[in-house]
Amino acid sequence: MDISTDVLIIGTGVSGLYFALNLNSNLKVTVITKSNIRDCNSYLAQGGISVARNKEDIDVFIEDTLKAGRYKNKRSSVKILAEESLKNIKVLQNYNVDFNMDDGHFNYTREGAHSIKRIVHCDDETGKQVTETLIQEVKKRKNITVIENAYLADIICKDNKCYGGIVLREGVQTNIFSKFTVLASGGIGGLFKNSTNQRTITGNGIAIAIKNNIKIEHLDYIQIHPTSLYEKEKNERKMLISESLRGEGGKLYNINGESFIDELLPRDVVSKAIFEEEKKTNSPFVYLDISNKPDNYLKERFPFIYSECLKRDIDITKDKIPVTPAQHYFMGGIGVDEYSRTSMENLFACGEVSCTGVHGANRLASNSLLEALVFPARAAKIINENIDKMKLSIFDVPILTKTKEDIEIENKKLVINKLNNIAEDSEYELVDC
Ligand SMILES: Cc1cc2nc3c(=O)[nH]c(=O)nc-3n(C[C@H](O)[C@H](O)[C@H](O)COP(=O)(O)OP(=O)(O)OC[C@H]3O[C@@H](n4cnc5c(N)ncnc54)[C@H](O)[C@@H]3O)c2cc1C
Repeated sequence: MDISTDVLIIGTGVSGLYFALNLNSNLKVTVITKSNIRDCNSYLAQGGISVARNKEDIDVFIEDTLKAGRYKNKRSSVKILAEESLKNIKVLQNYNVDFNMDDGHFNYTREGAHSIKRIVHCDDETGKQVTETLIQEVKKRKNITVIENAYLADIICKDNKCYGGIVLREGVQTNIFSKFTVLASGGIGGLFKNSTNQRTITGNGIAIAIKNNIKIEHLDYIQIHPTSLYEKEKNERKMLISESLRGEGGKLYNINGESFIDELLPRDVVSKAIFEEEKKTNSPFVYLDISNKPDNYLKERFPFIYSECLKRDIDITKDKIPVTPAQHYFMGGIGVDEYSRTSMENLFACGEVSCTGVHGANRLASNSLLEALVFPARAAKIINENIDKMKLSIFDVPILTKTKEDIEIENKKLVINKLNNIAEDSEYELVDC
């Protein structure tokens, strides 16, 4: 079966949904996801979204981002990120995202390597609130169709031009022809034994880029978050203990109760210090302690973390939380320009699958959701301006002989082979497939 659409978007995370909402409402837009609409990393985001608080903060925010990224960032993209931050947060407010406010002003929080408090948040469930709001907005738009359980097996392309995607739904091949195609398929965390990511986020966009000679960049830029909850099982997703706990005063101690690092240094520095401390003390974890804060404050400010820890017999108002680093984010990805255009014509990439260069070698906390807003909005504008010049091409596409499961394993292996060359440390242990 074939489907024709103006724009095909792969992914229902923040980047895919926000992209769809920024397209003109007279365009036919099809958004697909390999599982259900909520099964994505965006939904899990806790801490919040960075924003330049005012004009004076733009340069400070840029410098914080560059410093955390070890100055490997693309400066022009960082400037865009900072300058266009507030206008996109305002769009979310107009959609009624319920950010925490004090007397009509944002209740900004702080995370590591930010020199001031500049993170807007919805308690400690920002991703859930933002994604739910975007889902509701998408449902209001008659021009947007979301198809769940639709697996992008490959893109349809010829002579470095993209014409849509080959999709498998319940074993049936559907060729979706589009004028423009957007990969918003997320990161690679599902390929790591220890990761905070959804297990379904397995680097499919990167595999498709490798297969089709689309430029990818910095596969070695993998972020390890310092504080995932320590639990024994290796193949389950690790629960994140948000950096905002440290931003709000949480302290790190080794198992002997000794302090060993400034908690607000960039993530890569704190993760390295924890690994060293774990080796020194022969322990698989260190402790994060925020019990010095009032009980009610903790229950109100971190309701999700409080209740999830309590389910595991850890009362964060009294107990120290055992934490250990885990894979968290992918700064590398499909190389794109400042409008999310890939090296293949008519193909865009945005969100975590893309490498805009804003994060450099280490992402500054809460800059990912911001990137997933700023760049899709810019890319959608380009599509809105150019779609009238485009014609839809429909042609015969070979019938797939492999199942979805076979393709998923093939895709995982492709990316894992590339990662194996760089991921020799035990902290980068990859899944078997
Ligand atoms: C626990 C956790 C907490 C975080 N906290 C924060 C935070 O506070 N602030 C912040 O800025 N960032 C945070 N991040 C990072 C941030 O959430 C992600 O980087 C961001 O949401 C990625 O959005 P995305 O739209 O690119 O991808 P995702 O939200 O991961 O969505 C990817 C989509 O692609 C679909 N897909 C993938 N492959 C296929 C395929 N083959 N066919 C069809 N569909 C496919 C998936 O089903 C999914 O719908 C956090 C991440 C985690 C894991």
